[in-house]
Amino acid sequence: MKDLILVRYGELALKGNNRADFENRLVQNIHEKLKPFPGVKVRKTFGRIFVDPGDHGSKPVLQALSEVFGVVGISPAKRVASDMDAIREAAVHLVRHRQSPPSTFKVVAKRADKTFPHTSQEINRTVGTAVLKGVQGIRVDVHQPELELHIEVRGKETYLYGENIPGPGGLPVGSSGRVMLMLSGGIDSPVAGYLSMKRGADLEAVHFHSYPFTSNRAKQKVIDLARMMTRYGGTIRLHVVPFTEVQTQIRERCTPSYLITIMRRMMMRISEETARRQKALALVTGESLGQVASQTLESMNAINDAAQIPILRPLIGMDKQEIMTISKQIGTYETSVLPYEDCCTVFQPKSPVTRPRVDKSRELESKLEVDRLVREAVEQTEQICITPEQTEEFSYF
Ligand code: ATP
Ligand code: MG
Repeated sequence: MKDLILVRYGELALKGNNRADFENRLVQNIHEKLKPFPGVKVRKTFGRIFVDPGDHGSKPVLQALSEVFGVVGISPAKRVASDMDAIREAAVHLVRHRQSPPSTFKVVAKRADKTFPHTSQEINRTVGTAVLKGVQGIRVDVHQPELELHIEVRGKETYLYGENIPGPGGLPVGSSGRVMLMLSGGIDSPVAGYLSMKRGADLEAVHFHSYPFTSNRAKQKVIDLARMMTRYGGTIRLHVVPFTEVQTQIRERCTPSYLITIMRRMMMRISEETARRQKALALVTGESLGQVASQTLESMNAINDAAQIPILRPLIGMDKQEIMTISKQIGTYETSVLPYEDCCTVFQPKSPVTRPRVDKSRELESKLEVDRLVREAVEQTEQICITPEQTEEFSYF
C-alpha cells in the first residue's frame, strides 16, 4: 500500500495547447515548491497529478501543495495492487485516517479496463461493507455523503482517494506573463502582488527607497515582504530604486499640494522603464478606489497620464478590512504594520490635492529634469534576487 497525494486542477475552459502549457507549468511549479523535500516524486497521469511524498509523510507536503496556484483540490490517496483484499484494506485505512472522521460515506468505483474480475457495482458493495464493518458508527448515504470514496481500477494498479482539501485555485504562476509590482512596505501592495500571482502572473517588484529619509530597516522590511511572497510564486527579483534625488528635486521645484501626484508620476515612469527592461507587460499597484485622499479617480488619471503601460489595480473594489483579512491569511500583515517610514509618508504635504488635474501636473513637471532623473534612477537601481530561503539574518533592532 503506497501513500500518495492526488492533486486536482481546474479552469475547465482551458483547451488544446493552453491546457498542456498549464499542466506543464503547474508540474514545474510543484517541483519548485517541493524542493525542500528531496526524494518527493511528481507524476502526471490520466489528467491528474500524483505526488509521492516518500519519507516525508503526507502532512508537510499537503501543506506545501496548498500554496501552489492552479491547484483546486488535494486528496490523500493510496495506490494498491488491483486485488480486492488490498483495495478493501486501503479503503478502511483511508476513511479511518481522515482528518475528521466522516459520519456518512458512499463508494464510487470505476474500472478503466474490464480485465478486473469484478464490476463497479460489485466493488462498491464489497468495499462499502468492509468500511461499515471497519469504521465505527459510519453510515451509507448515497445522496449527500460526507465522504465520497473513489476507487479507480487501472490495470494492475488501483487508486483510492476520498477527502478533498481545497487548494488555492487560480492559475499556475508564470502562465499569464510577467508583471512589475510596485511594492511599498504597507499592507496593500503585497496583497495586490499575491492576487496577481493567483491569476498566473510571474512577479517582479520595484521599490522606491529614499535613503536617508527612509532607513535601511524600511528597505529590509520590503525585502522580508518580498520573501514572504515567494511562498506563492517562487523567486522574486526586487528592484530597489534610489529615489532621494527625485524627491528632493520635486520638493524644491513643485507646488506642495502636488508633491504626491508628481512623485507618483515619477514612480510610474521609472517603474515603466524597469518593466520594459524586464519584459513585464503591466504594472501592479495596491491602490483601492477612495481608500485615501490620493486614491481618487482624478488622481489615478493624473498618475496614469505619465505612463503608457497598463496599470493593474487588483484591490480596486476591496474594503480595507477585506484587504487586511487576505494580508493576515498570506502572512504579510505582521510585517506590513511594523512602523517604518515609507518614502510617501516622509513626503506628506499638509494639504495634498485630492482632485489633481492632468494639465497642471504636466505643467509643474516641466520644471523637473524628468528624463535625466528617470535615466539615472533606473541606471542606479539595485537588483536583489529574493529566494524562498532566507540567506542573511537581519535584526530590526
Ligand atoms: P500600501 O499599503 O501598498 O503601501 P497604501 O494604502 O499605503 O498602500 P499609498 O502609500 O498611497 O497607499 O500607495 C499606493 C500604492 O503605490 C501602493 O500600494 C504601492 O503599489 C505604490 N507605492 C507606494 N509607495 C511605494 C514605494 N515606496 N515603492 C513602490 N511602490 C510604492
Ligand atoms: Mg503605503
